[in-house]
Amino acid sequence: MVQTKTMQMKAMMVQEHGGPAVIKEASVNVPEPGFGKVRIKVKACALNHLDSWVRSGIPGIKLPIIPGCDVAGEVEHLGPEVTNVKVGDKVVVSPGLSCGTCYHCLAGDENLCRFYHILGAGCDGGYAEYVVVPAVNCLPMPTTLTFHQAAAVPLVFVTAWHMLFARADLKKHETVLVVGGGSGVGSAAIQIAKLNRSHVITTVGTKEKAAKAHALGADEVIIHSETKISDAVKKMTNKRGVDVVFEHVGPAVFNDCLESLAHGGRLVTCGATTGPTVEVDITRLFMKHQAIYGSIMGTKKELIELLPFFDQDLLRPVVDTVLPLSQAVAAHELMESRKHFGKIVLDPTL
Ligand SMILES: [Zn+2]
Repeated sequence: MVQTKTMQMKAMMVQEHGGPAVIKEASVNVPEPGFGKVRIKVKACALNHLDSWVRSGIPGIKLPIIPGCDVAGEVEHLGPEVTNVKVGDKVVVSPGLSCGTCYHCLAGDENLCRFYHILGAGCDGGYAEYVVVPAVNCLPMPTTLTFHQAAAVPLVFVTAWHMLFARADLKKHETVLVVGGGSGVGSAAIQIAKLNRSHVITTVGTKEKAAKAHALGADEVIIHSETKISDAVKKMTNKRGVDVVFEHVGPAVFNDCLESLAHGGRLVTCGATTGPTVEVDITRLFMKHQAIYGSIMGTKKELIELLPFFDQDLLRPVVDTVLPLSQAVAAHELMESRKHFGKIVLDPTL
């Protein structure tokens, strides 16, 4: 066995809450995998808005912490009683961690577990040379993907998949409005909805991003800086509205999104990047027989179901920028500038 207890690794840590500059490089002990866990040599870790929330401060998350939920890498060391992976396996990590024994976990709905947390939020994550995760969270990496591409998959694709199917029950003949088609979760939702043969309308901020959204498969694109979303949707749907709104932005667009919904429509949300509070006209909600769903992540089963579509070239990771791990601050600044299209990935090997 390799003696690693005194070995150090480079990590990007959050030790105090604040803007991107609070992320500091640190030298920390290489983590040891306990029972049922493995140590992964991180080859790529994608950013998510969750990383910003961890950095700026959300309740229940203790500091210091190494953020980073989306990891692709190689299994480097096995803890006791690990049989499903071996050293050298290329894996992507399912980012949801749960107790594994409660009713919801046993039913396969681990994202409803009361102990549910996400790698890099409730425990140290992938902004490091190594990370320790439960072996059962290691899934074989699609063979046609690079590490950078593979890291861009888990959180956003499983989140979008769960929102569209498990929550909004999107059907083939239906129309979906994907808010923020240039975001990681939006670019995943466009592709998943097209895989389902639904009609996709999306919103972006610029003409340049509109071309990229069309290239991903969006049927129609609204440039939200030029027109009110619900006005454009009504024009595109002959005043009917859309069956499903895929939302993750919050107050800046929430009521505009509700105005875009058809009778019987469903709005599903997984984020609140512009704030936590909205005022909703519940009269309109019940008179139009509409529903609002909250959604957090997805299940391991859903990630296992969707990964094969990457080797079939029916889903594609959207990577905007790859930066060395040491440039995590610049990566956060880029994510918050909203100039990117798709995912920003950190690489500890650069
Ligand atoms: Zn549980």
